[in-house]
Amino acid sequence: MIKFKGKPVNDAVAIGKAVLFEPDDISVPLMNTEDVDAELKRLKDAKKLAASQLSKITETARKDIGDEYAGIFESHIMLLEDPSLNDSIKELIQNQKLCAESAVNAASDLVASMFLSLKDDVMQTRAADVKDVSRRLILCLMNRSNTSEMSALMTDEMYVLCAKDLSPSQTVTLDKDHVAAIVTSSGSPNSHSAILARSMNIPAIVGAGDTFFESVQNGDILAVDGSSGEIYLNPDDETIEAFRKKQSLEQKRANRLEKLKGLENVTMDGTSIELFANISDPDGAKQALNEDAGGIGLFRSEFLYLERDNFPSEEEQFEIYRSVLETMGDKKVIIRTMDVGADKQPEYFAMDAEKNPALGIRGIRYCLTYPQILVTQLRALYRASAYGNLSILFPMITSVEEVKKLLKICEETRRNLRNEKIAYSKKVQLGIMIETPAAALISDKLAPLVDFFSIGTNDLTQYTLACDRQNEKLDPFCNPYHEAILRLIKITADNAKENHIPVGICGELAADTSLTEAFLRLGITELSVSPPYILPLRDTVRKIRLK
Ligand code: PEP
Ligand code: MG
Repeated sequence: MIKFKGKPVNDAVAIGKAVLFEPDDISVPLMNTEDVDAELKRLKDAKKLAASQLSKITETARKDIGDEYAGIFESHIMLLEDPSLNDSIKELIQNQKLCAESAVNAASDLVASMFLSLKDDVMQTRAADVKDVSRRLILCLMNRSNTSEMSALMTDEMYVLCAKDLSPSQTVTLDKDHVAAIVTSSGSPNSHSAILARSMNIPAIVGAGDTFFESVQNGDILAVDGSSGEIYLNPDDETIEAFRKKQSLEQKRANRLEKLKGLENVTMDGTSIELFANISDPDGAKQALNEDAGGIGLFRSEFLYLERDNFPSEEEQFEIYRSVLETMGDKKVIIRTMDVGADKQPEYFAMDAEKNPALGIRGIRYCLTYPQILVTQLRALYRASAYGNLSILFPMITSVEEVKKLLKICEETRRNLRNEKIAYSKKVQLGIMIETPAAALISDKLAPLVDFFSIGTNDLTQYTLACDRQNEKLDPFCNPYHEAILRLIKITADNAKENHIPVGICGELAADTSLTEAFLRLGITELSVSPPYILPLRDTVRKIRLK
C-alpha cells in the first residue's frame, strides 16, 4: 500500500479500480519516404482500423449516452472517406514523398484551415472534426491507441478516473454513472473541473502529484478520501475497513440531513436566507429539487456550448432553458449568459490564442465582441421565460458602460420578440456578477442599473489576489479568506442594501459553513452552491444566532 496526498475537492470517499486517462501527445515530425506504395498501403490499413474503432465507439455511445453523441462519431467515419482530405493526403505521399503520418498531419492542417477561413459556424465544426479524425488516423498509423476520448473509458464497472488533468469539457462528458472518484495529478480545487466534480457529488482529489500518476496502473485498487485529500494505492485490509466505516458514517450524516428537507433556512433568531443551487445542465435542476433547493442561483449556461461540436441554435437552447424552468416551477431560476473564454474554450468557437486568457476575451467581453451569439442566447432565454420564473445574469462585468450596452441589447431583443408576436415574461430580472474588484468597487454605480447582484468569489479571489485559479502552484498565495476579498464582499453587500436589491454569493465560498454567519451579518440574501451542499448549509443556518 502506498499513500499519496492531494488537494481535497469534496466530502466523499470511494474505493474502486483505477482507469488511467492519458490524452496522447502526437507531435508528428515531417518525414519522407522512398516507398510510396508501402505508405499508401499503410494509409489504407490505418483507415480501416480507424473506421472499426469509430463504429465501436458509435455503438457504445448510442447505448450509453444517446443518439446525439453517436451521430458525432458516425460523421467521423464518413470523414475518413472525405475526398478533400483523402486527395490531399495521397497527393502529399505521391508527389512530395511524405510518409503517411506526415501527409495526414499536413493535409488535415490544410483542410481544417480552409474550413476555418470560411468563418461559418458549420464550417468551424467541420474543421474540428477533420483534426479529430486525422488525430485518430495518425495514432492508428503509429500503432498507438486513442485514449484521449472519454468514450474510450466506458466500462460497466465503477472506476476511479486518474488523469494528469481534466478540462471542463472532458469532465462534463464523463460517464457519471460509472465514475466512483476522480484523482488528477495536477489542477486546483477552484478549477471548473473540480467545481463540476463537486456538483456531481463525485469524490475528487486534485494535485496528487506526478509521482502518483507514475505509480498507479490500470486495474490498481484506489481508496480515495475527497475530504482529506488522501489516496491509498492498493490499500491493505485495515485501510479498506476504515474506508467502509467512513462510507457508513457518511450515510448516517446523509440520513440526518435528509430530515432537514422541507424546513426553512432560518436562524435561531428569525433571519432567513435563500439557499439556491448551482447547476450546469437540465439534470442539475432535478438534483437541485431533490436536495430541496429554493431555486437555481447559477446555471452556468456555457456548458451547453462545451458539450457539443457546434453552436446550439436558438431553438435548441430554448428547449433546454424551458425544461429547466418547467422543472423548477415557480421557483427562481438564474441563468448566466455564457461565460466562455479562459479555461472554457469550445473548439468550434475558434478563439484566438491569448497569452493571458483569464484576462482576455472572456464572458460578456466575448458576447459584446460577437453580439449575434449573445442575441441568439437572449432570444432563447426570453422565449423560455414564459415557462417559469427566469432571471438573467451577466458574467465578468467591470464597467457601467458594459452594463448599459447589455441592457440595451436586452431591450432590443424584447422589442424584436414583441414585433414578432412571440411571448416572453415581463418579469424577467436582470443581474450582474460581481467577480472583478472593479465591479465590487463601483457597485454603488452598478446597483441602480440592475435588479440583483451575484458575487462570484472564485473569480473575485483570482482577480483580487492576482492568482490564476488554474495554477495549483499558487495555492499557498491564494487565501480565500483574505481580508481584501471580505472587504469587497462587504462593499458590494452595502451598496446592494442601499439600493434595495438582493445580493447573493454563487462562488465556492458560499458553501463554506465557517463563513455563513459572517455572510448573514453582511446582509447577503442568498447563497448558491452545488446541490449536495444545500442541506449542510441549512443545518448551519438553523444553528446560528445573530442577536
Ligand atoms: C465565480 O467566479 O465565483 C463563479 C461563480 O463563476 P465561475 O466559477 O463559473 O467562474
Ligand atoms: Mg466566475
